[in-house]
Amino acid sequence: MERVRFSEIVNIKELQKITDNIYAVTGMPIGVIEVDGTIVLASGWQDICTKFHRMHPLACERCLDSDFYIKNHLEEGEPIRYKCKNNMWDIAMPMVISGEHIATIFLGQFFYEDEKIDIEFFRAQALEFGFNEKEYLEALNKVPKYSRERVEQILTYYQGLIMTLTESGIRQVELKKSKKELVEGKRYLSTIFNSVNDAIFIHDMHGNIIDANETATSMYGYSRDELVTKNIKDIVVKDSASYNLNFKKLINKVRENGLAIGELLGKKKDGTEFWIEANSRFINIDEDEIVIVTVRDITERKGAELALQNQAFELEKLRTEFFANISHELRTPLNIILSAIKVNEMYTLDKDKPIDIERVINNIGIEKQNCFRLLRLINNLIDSTKIDADQFELNMVNCNIVNIIEEITLAAANHQCSNKLNLVFDTDIEEKIVACDVDKLERIMFNLLSNSVKYTPDGGNIYVNVFDGEEYITITIEDTGIGIPPEKLHVIFDRFRQVDKSFTRNSEGIGLGLFLTKSLIEIQGGTINVESKYGKGTKFIVKLPAKELENGKGIAECELAADKITDYEEKIIIEFSDIYK
Ligand code: ADP
Repeated sequence: MERVRFSEIVNIKELQKITDNIYAVTGMPIGVIEVDGTIVLASGWQDICTKFHRMHPLACERCLDSDFYIKNHLEEGEPIRYKCKNNMWDIAMPMVISGEHIATIFLGQFFYEDEKIDIEFFRAQALEFGFNEKEYLEALNKVPKYSRERVEQILTYYQGLIMTLTESGIRQVELKKSKKELVEGKRYLSTIFNSVNDAIFIHDMHGNIIDANETATSMYGYSRDELVTKNIKDIVVKDSASYNLNFKKLINKVRENGLAIGELLGKKKDGTEFWIEANSRFINIDEDEIVIVTVRDITERKGAELALQNQAFELEKLRTEFFANISHELRTPLNIILSAIKVNEMYTLDKDKPIDIERVINNIGIEKQNCFRLLRLINNLIDSTKIDADQFELNMVNCNIVNIIEEITLAAANHQCSNKLNLVFDTDIEEKIVACDVDKLERIMFNLLSNSVKYTPDGGNIYVNVFDGEEYITITIEDTGIGIPPEKLHVIFDRFRQVDKSFTRNSEGIGLGLFLTKSLIEIQGGTINVESKYGKGTKFIVKLPAKELENGKGIAECELAADKITDYEEKIIIEFSDIYK
C-alpha cells in the first residue's frame, strides 16, 4: 500500500471530540503527530508546557531534546516512557500498520502518584528561566498524577481506539481504491469489448447468448437486447459446415481443448448469409462454464478463395474442352483425308471403270485443304507454346504497311471462300513506312480476316481500313456478320475461348486465333480492341506504333517483304483452310 497520512484516513474532527471528552474524564493530555511532525490533534496541553517551557528558548530546547530522543527511539509497537529534561513524564507510542509507521500518539506530561515531585527542581527552574515562581508552581500543580496502572490503562485504551480507527480508515481507503480499480477495469474492458473489430459473443454451454459487443450488433443487425434472447444456433446457417449439426461435439471440443476454430456461414437479422471465422474459447468462472466466441467477417477472403477455386475449376473445364476440341480438330481433317484417299484408291484400282479424273482431282483438293488445316492447327499450337516460353523473336523492318495490308486484303478477297462476300479496302494515306514484323503482321491480318469471313453470312460486307496517326497507325477490320454477344466480348482474346459453338459453328477452330493475334500485336507494342453488335457485326481495331527503325537498316528487307506478297496466295490457303463455305 502506498504511504498514507493519518489525517487522510481518520476523521480528525471526530477523533478530537472523543479525545477532548476522554481528557475531560481522565485529565491525561494527548496529542497525535504525523510521521513528518505535523500535529494533527491535541487535547489538554499543559499550561506548564505551553505557557512556560515552550516559551523560553532554553527550556524549550529541553523539550526539543525530549522530542528528538523519542523520535530516535520509536520502535514498532513499543511505547517509549520518557522522563523529559523538564522532569515530567511523556509516553510516545508509534502506530504501525502493515509495517508502516503511520503516526505517533503522545501522552503527557504527567506524574506518577508513587513518585515524589521534586519541588526544589522546579523552583530552581523558575529562577533559572525567570518564570514567575508562583504561577509556575500553580501550573506544575495542575499537571495530572496517575498510578502506574492507570497510565497503562489510558495508554491501552488510546492505543486500541486509535488503532481501530486507523485500521478501519485504511480499510475504507483500500475499499475505495479497489472500487475505483474495479470501475476503471470494467471501463477498460468494456471499451476493449466494444471497440474491437471482431464480434464477441459470450454464451453458456447450451449456446444461449449471455452478452454481445457493439460489433456483434452491427455485424448481425440485431440490438444487444435481441441478441441476449437468442441462441448461437440462431445466428448461423443451419447446414453451414457441421457447426450446427454437431453443436454438442463442438462444445465438448471447446471444453476439452479450451478452444475451437471454424469457418461457417453466419446469418444476419435480415436473413443475409455471410462467411465468418468463429474462434470459441472455454472459460470457467467459479462454478459457471461459459464460451467466449470472437467472430470475424471473412466474406472478402472467402470470396477470393472461392473465386480462386472457381478459376481453377474453370481452367480445368477449359483444359478438358481443349483436349476434346483438339482431338476433334485433328481427327476430322484426318478422317476426311483418309476417306478421300480411299475413294481415289477405289477409282484407280477399279480396272473395269475409266478413272474419273475430275473426281480424283477434287478429292486431292479436299486432301490438300485438310492437310493445310492440320498444318495451321499445328502452327498455331507451336506459336502458342512459343508465347508461353517467351520465345517469339521479332524481326522488325521498315516497310510500307499500307501496301502490305492492301495486298493481304486483296488476296483474301480473291480466295474462293470470300466469293459471296464484299471485301473492301480503304485508306486515308497511300504510303506509311513503319517498323513492323511482316510475318507477324500477315498472321494478324489473315487471322482477323479469316474470322470475318467465317462469321459473316454470304452477301455480307467486310471493310478493311487504314488510318494514319501520329503515334499509332490504326487498322480496322469490320464485318456485317453474326456479331458477338456482349457478355462474351471480354473472353474472346483468352486462349481456347470460343463463343457458344452451337451458334457460330459453320467452321472449325479451337479458340487460339485471337489469343495469338493479340499476343503478336502486343509484342510489337500495339493494341487490339473489339466492338461488336450482336447480330449486326464486329469491328476489330488494331493499333501499331507509327515508328520507323532509326538506322534505316530495314529498307532492303522492306523491298524483300514486297516480294513476299506473291506468297500470300499460298499462305491464305493455309490460313483460310478451316473455313467451309
Ligand atoms: P477460333 O479459332 O475458334 O476462331 P478465335 O480465337 O479466332 O478462335 O476466336 C474466338 C471466338 O471469337 C470465335 O470462336 C468466335 O466465336 C468469336 N469471333 C472472332 N471473330 C469474330 C467475328 N468477326 N465475328 C463473330 N465472332 C467472332
